[in-house]
Amino acid sequence: MKAAPAYAIHETDLPPGAGGAWRPKAREEEMLLNENYFRLADSYLFITIDRKVKAFLEENPGTKITKLGIGDVTLPLAKAVVDAMSEAVGEMGKKETFKGYSSDQGYPFLQDALVRHYGKKGVTLSQDDVFIGDGAKSDISNILDIFAKENKVLIPDPVYPVYVDTNIMDGRSIQYLSGNASNGFLPLPDKSVHADIIYLCSPNNPTGAVYSMDQLKVWVDYAQAYDSIILFDSAYEVFIGDSSLPSSIFQVPGAKECAIELGSFSKTAGFTGVRCGYTIVPKELTRLSAGKPVSLNSLWKRRQNTKFNGVSYITQRGAEAALGDEGFAQVMQNIAYYKENAGIIADALLELGIWYSGGKNSPYVWLRCPKGMTSWEFFDFLLKQAHVVGTPGSGFGLNGEGYFRLTAFGSRESTIEAVERIKAAIASL
Ligand code: PLP
Repeated sequence: MKAAPAYAIHETDLPPGAGGAWRPKAREEEMLLNENYFRLADSYLFITIDRKVKAFLEENPGTKITKLGIGDVTLPLAKAVVDAMSEAVGEMGKKETFKGYSSDQGYPFLQDALVRHYGKKGVTLSQDDVFIGDGAKSDISNILDIFAKENKVLIPDPVYPVYVDTNIMDGRSIQYLSGNASNGFLPLPDKSVHADIIYLCSPNNPTGAVYSMDQLKVWVDYAQAYDSIILFDSAYEVFIGDSSLPSSIFQVPGAKECAIELGSFSKTAGFTGVRCGYTIVPKELTRLSAGKPVSLNSLWKRRQNTKFNGVSYITQRGAEAALGDEGFAQVMQNIAYYKENAGIIADALLELGIWYSGGKNSPYVWLRCPKGMTSWEFFDFLLKQAHVVGTPGSGFGLNGEGYFRLTAFGSRESTIEAVERIKAAIASL
């Protein structure tokens, strides 16, 4: 009797059009890597910062260095969040309340909490517009699965580097949009450029700049005219204290037909190590495929069904608590603390007559390096003269050259101390 093969390829099992005939490779043919990875710029920024700080400390042992460069939160989780998560751990330890896999779109209690959160901004969402994920970074990358590689991508410069790198990894072509001091680092569309996918980040990392309602309306009008999709990153939305500024693109009429919003509990509720975010894909958002409208919400749902198994129950209960009345008040105390730090940094720059953006509705202060220094020259100057570490603007794109990012996520004491040392160092220039 003939032995059954150890495995078999059933080409006929493939749905029509799925890959075509499988052709075994010749033995000498190489397996292929994703060559797009070799087009990525090396991520030197934080490695170089660490190397320079280490070298400085070796030459100057015992020097107290203050870090105003970190983009990570430092305050602990709010009490209401910790209580909710502890209770959820208790539930997981009892047979009657134990939970296994969650729905890959998230638990309805957290989706509803987000629907209410948006409701307070005047944005009406339905539960199934909301997808819970493990943070904005993952979804910023994952959402690209539903778009063809041929799409042209428009990315403001300077910007959070993940937008650029995820598109390079996929092989998409990118056009950069210049953010600079004359447009307040809030570039608007150039109607001669036709983009399919547009990234907007407001409040912006690294510039701290926030788009106004009128400016976002210009973007929505452009996207509607060109059939583009805006990927709106609102990771820092709770830092917006000025009620005339939009904290969601969906506050702009018409945005539900042309935008997806990516949000996060990382900076809102100190979840950088807990991991929870959300992606809003309104059901109104459709695009044509073979002449027929297709819902992007359905495509994203299909993607998540296949590739994602949800966020832990414990995490989602913590996130729900962060949006509850008590939790949100506690979380906003932490935000107020960071914003006061940002205000302290901004006031010092004002006093020194140094141009900056951000600092008011954002944890980031973005400043022009004094005396025409490059970003790295100013980094070295601050390290050596003020013993302060910040982030060179050139690490966020070509337009960041000559600028510098300071962050408000440190402690009050270290922020005040660093600012005093920065003031003294710059005054001596
Ligand atoms: N979007 C922006 C603009 C960010 O600056 C960051 C983190 O620094 C993220 C998204 C990532 O957020 P998460 O921690 O939810 O992945």
